[in-house]
Amino acid sequence: MSQQTSVIQGDITQLPVDAIVNAAKNSLLGGGGVDGAIHRAAGPELLAECRLLNGCATGEAKITKGYQLPAKWVIHTVGPVWYGGDRGEDETLGRCYRNSLTLAAQYQIKTIAFPAISTGVYGFPLERACKIAISEVNKFLHSHKSIEQVIFVCFGQSAYDCYLKVIRELT
Ligand code: ADP
Repeated sequence: MSQQTSVIQGDITQLPVDAIVNAAKNSLLGGGGVDGAIHRAAGPELLAECRLLNGCATGEAKITKGYQLPAKWVIHTVGPVWYGGDRGEDETLGRCYRNSLTLAAQYQIKTIAFPAISTGVYGFPLERACKIAISEVNKFLHSHKSIEQVIFVCFGQSAYDCYLKVIRELT
């Protein structure tokens, strides 16, 4: 793992980073899982700003303020639904990480936290998603030194164990 990345277990809404990433829906109008938790913690102003964005295509990313969150910004990205792996899911998930990090670099964001995008309701196999997340972030950081810290936030123990295992394998 590079010096700029770390893995923690916890609730992404509590983190005092410059930006947290939301695993959003295409509508950007909230949902369950981490999306619901972020909207609850940010307050209704977040939904009001999201309504102005006209949704977000799968694999793309859009940015809003963080409102009541400790994070200044929320980067909303829409992960792929898992259909078995033959519908470009790997590439689309990779684009979520790249597009989120590109926005972060544009906004001079130095610290950013990612949830395990698509691994909840969207059903992407955890270890496969985790390998994509770590390799995309590492690749991006090589060429973008302005981002100082990327945190992978795992909600459960199994995701945490999986990230640690993949990081050991990749280094
Ligand atoms: P998706 O629709 O992209 O699958 P989910 O929100 O269902 O999104 O799940 C994505 C990941 O976020 C899952 O690994 C889930 O356990 C995790 N998660 C849910 N709530 C939180 C939270 N408050 N902080 C960090 N991760 C969370």
